Amino acid sequence: MAGKEKSDPSQLYDAIVVGAGIQGSFAAYHLAKRQRRTLLLEQFPLPHSRGSSHGHSRIIRSAYPQDYYTAMVAEAYLLWAELEAESEAKLYRPTPLLVLAQQENPEFQDFWKSMEQNRVPREVFTPEDLGRRFPGIRLCGGEMAVSDLTAGVLNADKALKAVQDQFQSRGGTMRDGEKVLRIVPGAVVTVTTSQGEYRARHLVVTAGAWASRLLAPLGLPLPLQPLRISVCYWRAKDPGDHGRLGQLPLFLGINLNGEKHHVYGFPASEYPGLVKICYHYGSPVDPDKPDQMDRASPQVPDIQILRDFVSQYLPGLHPEPALQERCLYTNTPDEDFVLDRHPRFSNVIIGAGFSGHGFKFAPVIGKILCELSLGEEPAYNLSPFQISRFPAVPKAPL
Ligand SMILES: Cc1cc2nc3c(=O)[nH]c(=O)nc-3n(C[C@H](O)[C@H](O)[C@H](O)COP(=O)(O)OP(=O)(O)OC[C@H]3O[C@@H](n4cnc5c(N)ncnc54)[C@H](O)[C@@H]3O)c2cc1C
Repeated sequence: MAGKEKSDPSQLYDAIVVGAGIQGSFAAYHLAKRQRRTLLLEQFPLPHSRGSSHGHSRIIRSAYPQDYYTAMVAEAYLLWAELEAESEAKLYRPTPLLVLAQQENPEFQDFWKSMEQNRVPREVFTPEDLGRRFPGIRLCGGEMAVSDLTAGVLNADKALKAVQDQFQSRGGTMRDGEKVLRIVPGAVVTVTTSQGEYRARHLVVTAGAWASRLLAPLGLPLPLQPLRISVCYWRAKDPGDHGRLGQLPLFLGINLNGEKHHVYGFPASEYPGLVKICYHYGSPVDPDKPDQMDRASPQVPDIQILRDFVSQYLPGLHPEPALQERCLYTNTPDEDFVLDRHPRFSNVIIGAGFSGHGFKFAPVIGKILCELSLGEEPAYNLSPFQISRFPAVPKAPL
């Protein structure tokens, strides 16, 4: 149990945050920094690997096809550096990211335009240039690469621990192994858990793949789809190449082999001699039964897609994963996040649907969720993240 404090039913918190993944932990940290009495609740004993925020590595990059993400990431870099300084931990390792695609691919064109407009430091490679610089990656004719020189790798496990430690060192209370079972909204929100009852003026729900289950009883049927992601590690065919795998750049392949979703990869780091490569999509899953296939939903042949990709673009790797782990995405239909107030209960704030790309922004997302809960207007245009964009969700009070 992380929190040593006993449950005190008479205590009124300024805010309760449900879910101690990276988003909830940063929301709680910003609330504590603003001197708000904050309780962070987590259903599983910490640390755990049953949600979306565990593991060794996450990509941070300025390159995005949408300007509103590039704008947010600029502040995220500053806030990650602040957390590194506060916690005296190394959380970020600069590593260039190659965006790989057919030259005329429309999404690649959007990346390109956005990088130009936002003056993202970059380098352009033809297949021949790339082969000379990074011999492990092979492009075909008509394909090209642009590198985002601001990109890097965040250490997810260390980052999560650092932000939770900073939250607690600022007086925040964290209680893990304590599942939220019921939320009763009102001017004061009552939260019933597996171990007690708590009250707060504000509630922040950052429950990852479990968010729909908590929000549906509050009249908010958000279209959030949990997906099981296969995290695959690949070894070099020639053992003499092992050392070189740590020198690879990050990469993001856009529809290269006709895949519908991105393929992304990291230089070898967590396992010596193994390169992490994942498909940016997966099969629908119940987050409480991640090993059981949902027979009613189509299964995504992610491993076969990755085998084909590795054979074609990283021919020095053995085209069979040496190791597999798993993680969860929680996708919205448009893959934009949900950052909003509940349409009926304005003191209930929701951060959800991070669609497999939310980690890098977590310090900014936490700040936005904190500001929303304090009744402030965040500095960002939040219209892409509003609940009202989903036609089936009630817009007006129930
Ligand atoms: C394989 C993989 C690779 C990724 N790569 C990148 C990347 O390179 N770059 C990037 O930016 N992003 C990446 N992401 C996405 C990023 O990791 C997620 O967007 C982010 O971790 C989501 O955090 P979260 O806090 O919303 O969810 P989670 O980490 O799942 O946290 C939600 C928490 O809420 C808790 N909870 C749920 N219900 C309850 C309840 N009733 N009571 C109490 N607690 C509850 C859960 O147990 C969980 O701990 C990746 C994700 C995966 C899976």
